[in-house]
Amino acid sequence: MTNCQHCQKPMKPIAANLLCASCRENYWALIRQLGHVQLPALSSIMLKQAHIGATGHAPSRGSAPMPIDTHAQALITDSEAWLAEQAGKIRSAYAGYGWRKAWLAILSNRHTILDMPTAADDYAALEHISRRNEAALTPEDELIILGTCPTCRHQLTGTPDAESVTCQHCRSEWAAPAIKAARDQRLWQVQITGTPSDAAKELKRYGLTISRNLISQWLRRGKLHATPTKHKRQYTFNLGELAALLDCHR
Ligand SMILES: [Zn+2]
Ligand SMILES: [Zn+2]
Repeated sequence: MTNCQHCQKPMKPIAANLLCASCRENYWALIRQLGHVQLPALSSIMLKQAHIGATGHAPSRGSAPMPIDTHAQALITDSEAWLAEQAGKIRSAYAGYGWRKAWLAILSNRHTILDMPTAADDYAALEHISRRNEAALTPEDELIILGTCPTCRHQLTGTPDAESVTCQHCRSEWAAPAIKAARDQRLWQVQITGTPSDAAKELKRYGLTISRNLISQWLRRGKLHATPTKHKRQYTFNLGELAALLDCHR
């Protein structure tokens, strides 16, 4: 037995094959997605941004919210470089191809790509690229605050079910559950003054879904120790307490 060079699970040794069957599948799916979905979508963001810049108009109402990312061009460059590098490994002349041709060359050389001695590293690099692309392509209102980067203290955002997160500032990579756990601890130091609906909205930014009715109910029953203010229906809430109650309620 040997270990898959990507997921480290033991696997039957297959000649010149460093990735297990499921990693090969996933790797291939990422390659397909890169050229089929991500690069075209990033290119269209670039075009839209160029257009908005040129006219000075905000995007019209009803159009999808602008994704967070202003580095679409950097993401495209990284994605294209990855494709060119892989294509160049198939045949050195392919390295000069534009991304679409490089991608098609890769697709028609599945075995060469998957059996490449560098496949494990190439897959890891692509995973990283793909995750950043994915984050940039997710509309901002679907992103939540996962927590704070332990290295540079910048805010880390991502999709609610993200397993890992890359800091857009210092590029370090973290396991999302640990980042979220640290965030939930820090929520005890965060207070918000407002109505139950304000508190519910604030929690939603952290991916914690709660209805304002439930918060009102907890207030009435004395389960929640929010401090009333002199304004009607306004309280000072502790977000940590709300998050903890929500956790018990689930
Ligand atoms: Zn594997
Ligand atoms: Zn950072």
